[in-house]
Amino acid sequence: MSAVIPVVKDVEFDHPVEGSACETRHAWARVPPEPAPAERAALKARIRDLLKARNAVMVSHYYVHPDLQDLAEETGGLVSDSLEMARFGRDHPAQTLVVSGVRFMGETSKILSPHKRVLMPDLDATCSLDLGCPADEFSAFCDAHPDRTVVVYANTSAAVKARADWLVTSSCAIEIVRALHEKGHKILWAPDRHLGSYIQRETGADMVFWNGSCIVHDEFKAFELEALKREHPAAKVLVHPESPADVVALADAVGSTSGILKAAREMDATEFIVATDNGMMHKLRTLNPGKMFYEAPTAGNSATCKSCAHCPWMAMNGLADVARVLETGANEIFVDPALGERARLPIDRMLAFTAAIKDGRPAGALVPNIGAA
Ligand code: SF4
Repeated sequence: MSAVIPVVKDVEFDHPVEGSACETRHAWARVPPEPAPAERAALKARIRDLLKARNAVMVSHYYVHPDLQDLAEETGGLVSDSLEMARFGRDHPAQTLVVSGVRFMGETSKILSPHKRVLMPDLDATCSLDLGCPADEFSAFCDAHPDRTVVVYANTSAAVKARADWLVTSSCAIEIVRALHEKGHKILWAPDRHLGSYIQRETGADMVFWNGSCIVHDEFKAFELEALKREHPAAKVLVHPESPADVVALADAVGSTSGILKAAREMDATEFIVATDNGMMHKLRTLNPGKMFYEAPTAGNSATCKSCAHCPWMAMNGLADVARVLETGANEIFVDPALGERARLPIDRMLAFTAAIKDGRPAGALVPNIGAA
């Protein structure tokens, strides 16, 4: 197989801590080139064989390359959001999980499956929310607000999760924060400021926020979205709540990745404008043939586009690296066992809460009254 030279992208993201060493930091992403058709077919065949030989299963996020989504499903794995990826990996009999996504997803899988081997195509694939919320600075923020229940989003390191009382994903955040609010809890929220303020508007909870953001969703533009709506007046607008408030305000439906898929399936429309990572378009179009999907604009007069609606770190996942890590066992994720045990508590609380909702049990009963958290 011919050697390929990856494209290295410099990525800017805002560092939220005032007075920190720098306000804006740089990271980089190494994006693998597309393999030629023959090489692509050979890599897929090799991965299929290796998955069987290594007792392994692929779990892929909706934002990674379509090849990694299709191959996961064709081989009995899963394409989903970060929570379902971790839950599926925990419950699947395979002893090796190949997680295509970004690092916190591999860590969450390892925390839920500490006795399994978790491999990732590229360990440098990260997330601006994770990068912008270092555990020591976050811990100091928590110490400054000792009267608040700490709720963190899934897009955080194991060390930040270990400092939390509750973990949430965008699909269950409103229900959990509302239940906490009803029991008298004041909330410390991290790291995504847009998702946090959306939840506050929806629940009325007393919340203080860490000031992080997703470099992809932060770039959607309300002014340009209104212009696109005028071009497609019949289209419904689907928005991920990591987007800015003025973009969320234009939505016909606001939801997580799974919420957006559900809305596209169930809403009475054949055209949609979608404000989330454009990796989602593959699943949306596959599941909804005959419907039209347009990407919400990240460009325009106010653009400072860093992402062009596709996460540069999600783009680091490629077929060649999946084959390589299965072949060699490289890129294994390790989480300190004591840290993992502590980080598991807020995850297990969330899983118990969402399982209760699914079974029609009173999930609010799982939330302690204030003072007992
Ligand atoms: S899309 Fe945004 S939230 Fe998701 S991994 Fe990339 S930077 Fe993080």
